[in-house]
Amino acid sequence: MKIIDGKALAAKLQEELRVRVEGMAVKPALMVILVGDNSASQVYVRNKARAAERIGIKSETLFLPESTSEAELLNLIDKYNADEQWHGILVQLPLPAQIDEDKVLLAIDPNKDVDGFHPMNMGRLWTGQPVMVPSTPAGVMEMFKAYDISLEGKQAVVLGRSNIVGKPMAQLMMDQNATVTLCHSRTQGLKAICQKADIIVSAIGQAEFVKADFVKEGAVVIDVGMNRNAEGKLCGDVAFDEVAEKASLITPVPGGVGPMTITMLMKQTVTACERLTAGFDNE
Ligand code: NDP
Repeated sequence: MKIIDGKALAAKLQEELRVRVEGMAVKPALMVILVGDNSASQVYVRNKARAAERIGIKSETLFLPESTSEAELLNLIDKYNADEQWHGILVQLPLPAQIDEDKVLLAIDPNKDVDGFHPMNMGRLWTGQPVMVPSTPAGVMEMFKAYDISLEGKQAVVLGRSNIVGKPMAQLMMDQNATVTLCHSRTQGLKAICQKADIIVSAIGQAEFVKADFVKEGAVVIDVGMNRNAEGKLCGDVAFDEVAEKASLITPVPGGVGPMTITMLMKQTVTACERLTAGFDNE
């Protein structure tokens, strides 16, 4: 068994991005909007700001009160859509209940949608013309590349069908010619499906759900989950110690997919800047 070191790979890719940004005449700029005081979101936006700084991306985080109305947020998005100094706009999810998340995602200019959550970017991904791709599955694909894991003709199982992880993950793997089974909470016989998989990507948010008897000898296991176990310790969806004994390659939590997600967000910001300054427009 070999551990996929997401932290080291992320550091290497961030250094490559730093060099790329150094050579850019117009430096990429990312506007992050956080509404309310969700403590996990505060940690995420802080980490994004730090990564941006390391790479040479200008970033600003706008902290808005929990009581912000949908109209106020939509007005701000309009403003940053029109402002050429910002190449990426990211609204940290989740949003307070009074704001319709779908409306907000739809309001962001697809060219500046560095999270890749706009329906236009989702549609492009599903029709084989990816431009802005959700960061977490994009990070997993980079891991496959870095560790020479070919998807060609493989049986892949994705656990979880969210718009931000499971669905785009399945599509990206299918693009690389894997045969993908996308499972969710209503899937029957989930364990048996996993047992046939050459590659399992789990994104369900259930602490240590994937046990050794789910996994075929020599399978590759990617753990996207970020959960707390019974002792309150950060853990993934995979029971790491027992699964590691059967897997050929496995990601740890922490230090696996997490650092790659932020790195891919930075990469998309650089790409958005390059496309916008080259005058490319989706619409
Ligand atoms: P969601 O809650 O949006 O989706 C969870 C998915 O898992 C749903 O499709 C759900 O099925 C499915 N599911 C839940 N329980 C089970 C089960 N017992 N068996 C099979 N399927 C199940 O989560 P996200 O996609 O946003 O995130 C998933 C996990 O990944 C979370 O732990 C999250 O913290 C983590 N995450 C980590 C990131 C990172 O950078 N490392 C980034 C993003 C997320 P159904 O659709 O039927 O409800």
